[in-house]
Amino acid sequence: MINMTTPLVEMDGDEMTRILWQMIKDELILPYIDLKTEYYDLGLEHRNETDDQVTIDSAEATKRLGVAVKCATITPNAARMDEYKLKSMWKSPNGTIRAALDGTVFRAPIVVKGIEPCVRNWKKPITLARHAYGDVYKNVEIRVPGAGKAELVYTGEDGTEVRETIQDFKGPGVVQGMHNTDASITSFAHACFKYAIDTKQDLWFSTKDTISKKYDHRFKDIFQDLYDNEYKDKFEEIGITYFYTLIDDAVARVMKSKGGFIWACKNYDGDVMSDMVSSAFGSLAMMTSVLVSPSGVYEYEAAHGTVQRHYYKHLAGEETSTNSVATIFAWTGALRKRGELDGIEELITYANDMERAVLWTIESGKMTKDLALITSLENVTVLNSQEFIKEIRKTYDSIK
Ligand code: NAP
Ligand code: MG
Repeated sequence: MINMTTPLVEMDGDEMTRILWQMIKDELILPYIDLKTEYYDLGLEHRNETDDQVTIDSAEATKRLGVAVKCATITPNAARMDEYKLKSMWKSPNGTIRAALDGTVFRAPIVVKGIEPCVRNWKKPITLARHAYGDVYKNVEIRVPGAGKAELVYTGEDGTEVRETIQDFKGPGVVQGMHNTDASITSFAHACFKYAIDTKQDLWFSTKDTISKKYDHRFKDIFQDLYDNEYKDKFEEIGITYFYTLIDDAVARVMKSKGGFIWACKNYDGDVMSDMVSSAFGSLAMMTSVLVSPSGVYEYEAAHGTVQRHYYKHLAGEETSTNSVATIFAWTGALRKRGELDGIEELITYANDMERAVLWTIESGKMTKDLALITSLENVTVLNSQEFIKEIRKTYDSIK
């Protein structure tokens, strides 16, 4: 039994992933680790009972304890209001947690032999770091009805005014205003540099500063200043590089790269590029996600949702073949980080071995249906949700 000193913040969730959560704990964690967690039930029923206070409490606990592991959760919509008889359309827990931790989300594919990326030369994962505040996601737009002048006006608290003409419209059109803040860009940059050091990978950052000479240029300057003043020595010491380039150049280079680096993107670029990178690597069920705050707090989760369609099959008593890999990696990621912070070598070894067991199980041809559909391996055995987890346990027992 491996002992822990500081508890993890455990955020339980909904539907099929809640079922997997328990199976993973029972088969892959509790037999090996004397697990210490502070448990928060973010299942929709309990969020509703507590008026969503439990989500806020779990975020506060994460700030206090430093490392959390989160199960996928339902973001309520109109259909869920009826299904769960909700008092209110509670906000997305991920949104609430991200706002509380002021974090940046890093997403990385789990690379395994037999599930080949569409891009042949990608040999290592590409981690996407997406700035999660501002730009077009907090924009203001006007549908211009006809001829007239559109202006950009800033009024300082002391009354000073800055005014720029956007366009003298001769006829109808559209106009958009967007913003970002130095504080948010700075947090984003800190999170990226820290994560690069933490994972010992090069950091790329790209914007369109040749066209956007003030807006995008501000991003470039903030990153460069922080790098020069705070991170350069550490980067050189551990042998990683910081590389800035234009977004279009970055896209071309990413395609020709071998992978193995972090690509930091502005909000919109990150939205678009993370979907491209993740689907090119194979499957959403093989994508991990970690929220890192500038103060060095970590929250690990799978990138996919609660897999609702499989859950309804499960409720109807049918067999499911749901892929638990990303959720297992959320647990191993959190346990490894706890091990690093508390100096518990056995916990780090456990996480490494368990991840290896997952990959070896798949590479030996035993996998869930989603992977069986895209694998290049022959003689594949398709397992159900529970069998796959039990098979990983067997592999782990044989290598640990
Ligand atoms: P989803 O749960 O990611 O599932 C979409 C589809 O992707 C599934 O129906 C399944 O395809 C496939 N899939 C995803 N994960 C899989 C896995 N682990 N194993 C096998 N197949 C997998 O997205 P959704 O159905 O749009 O959303 C369901 C709920 O999740 C929603 O209430 C949403 O609010 C929530 N959600 C939560 C998070 C989060 O907590 N981070 C993120 C996204 C969505 P097939 O049906 O073809 O097998
Ligand atoms: Mg998107």
